[in-house]
Amino acid sequence: MTIIGVLGLQGAVREHIRSVEASGAEGIIIKRKEQLDEIDGLILPGGESTTMRRLIDKYDFLDALKQFGQSGKPIFGTCAGLILLANEIVGQDHAHLELMDMKVQRNAFGRQKESFEAKLEVKGVADDFEAVFIRAPYVVEVGTDVEVLATFNDAIVAAKQGHYLCSAFHPELTDDHRLTAYFVEMVKTSKKELAS
Ligand code: GLN
Repeated sequence: MTIIGVLGLQGAVREHIRSVEASGAEGIIIKRKEQLDEIDGLILPGGESTTMRRLIDKYDFLDALKQFGQSGKPIFGTCAGLILLANEIVGQDHAHLELMDMKVQRNAFGRQKESFEAKLEVKGVADDFEAVFIRAPYVVEVGTDVEVLATFNDAIVAAKQGHYLCSAFHPELTDDHRLTAYFVEMVKTSKKELAS
């Protein structure tokens, strides 16, 4: 069985577990860094990136999360999770995990658009994906190794860099599990590759 962890320090955790299980993998909530050894892939959920970072430091997760990614195991960051993955954040001196070569802008859609839904084409996933945005960031710039998977009004809202995947929206809040299923497939492929 492929096991996918959802970082359970803060944010939309249970919804991701439900989506992982609907996509044919086992989902577990990660609250201690030792649990990272038990999983094949990890989801960093939406929530509040500054709060999440505080808790990552409090529970001594930072290096363990970086090493998890650097070992080749897939990570999917959604919304605040996307911010955690970026190596640069507009207006901030320091980023967090710095695993994806991209610059992100927090709360990028402004006050009028605190939350909204939009139908998106997500490359390799769906051409009619109903995406839920909540105080969402977007990606301002990507490095050459990053593949853009979706845009909304010219802003990058989903991307992939090798075994890292991110979305500015919340794929776990509807019954459309196709993006989570895409990540589950990434994890299954990497599990085979890492075992051989
Ligand atoms: N605006 C939040 C942040 O900066 C992200 C919002 C979300 O995850 N829904 O962390």
